[in-house]
Amino acid sequence: MLKALVARFKEGCGTGAFPPAAPKLPPDFKGRPEIAADTTEEDVKAMRAVCPVADALFFRDGKASLDMGRCIFCGRCAEVCGKVRFTGEYRLGVFRREDLIVKAGEKEYAPPVQTDGEALALEGSLHLREVSAGGCAACELDANVLGTPAWDMARFGIRFTASPRHADAVYLTGPVSANMQLALEKTYAAMPEPKFLIAAGACAVSGGLYKHGNLPRTPSLYIPGCPPHPATVLEALLRFCGAGRGK
Ligand code: SF4
Ligand code: SF4
Repeated sequence: MLKALVARFKEGCGTGAFPPAAPKLPPDFKGRPEIAADTTEEDVKAMRAVCPVADALFFRDGKASLDMGRCIFCGRCAEVCGKVRFTGEYRLGVFRREDLIVKAGEKEYAPPVQTDGEALALEGSLHLREVSAGGCAACELDANVLGTPAWDMARFGIRFTASPRHADAVYLTGPVSANMQLALEKTYAAMPEPKFLIAAGACAVSGGLYKHGNLPRTPSLYIPGCPPHPATVLEALLRFCGAGRGK
């Protein structure tokens, strides 16, 4: 017993300093992209030729744009003509789908501020019911690590729950395959009001690598990535419910 206590004491606290410290991201982490202001339609065509996702890149109204909701952050486009660059900005969660579109020439970025009072009222107690709806399981795994001591999202009152009856939000991953549509609807229906839908990962947001997704309703939070990094997910959840403010 004493040995176990000494071992625990020596081990110390295994929880990372993020937040409030900046997260430790891998050297090859790809965050919010920047697109050069002078990117031409020809450049976009060349990048689209190597992009594995339909319409992640497009040229509209005279501007090159990248849809982070479709992008799987593979980085191939950045190797074509040097017009796209992936930054270390990991704060990618947004409350409106259109805010996932990055346009050429945009440099300044600040993550959107939550204004939904019902979501902010969840500060200190946000319970999530995961619905894995046809994805590859990587999104689920990277959300799962948030419950481990290394990330310990429960210190902010954020937890995954087994029952939709105890949940404030569905944490949706995957493109919502036909066989999962009914299960998703039933899960959402079983939750008490107010309730929210969170779309996590390119599959849930837009279909991603699949042709299209099947979102049953408009999400209150979109978290892009394939899969989103745990730091991206945790920061988005904290901003969504106003938890961790001032830390
Ligand atoms: S990083 Fe995104 S936009 Fe670029 S090639 Fe990959 S999927 Fe396409
Ligand atoms: S977004 Fe990517 S990681 Fe997540 S379920 Fe889809 S394919 Fe898998």
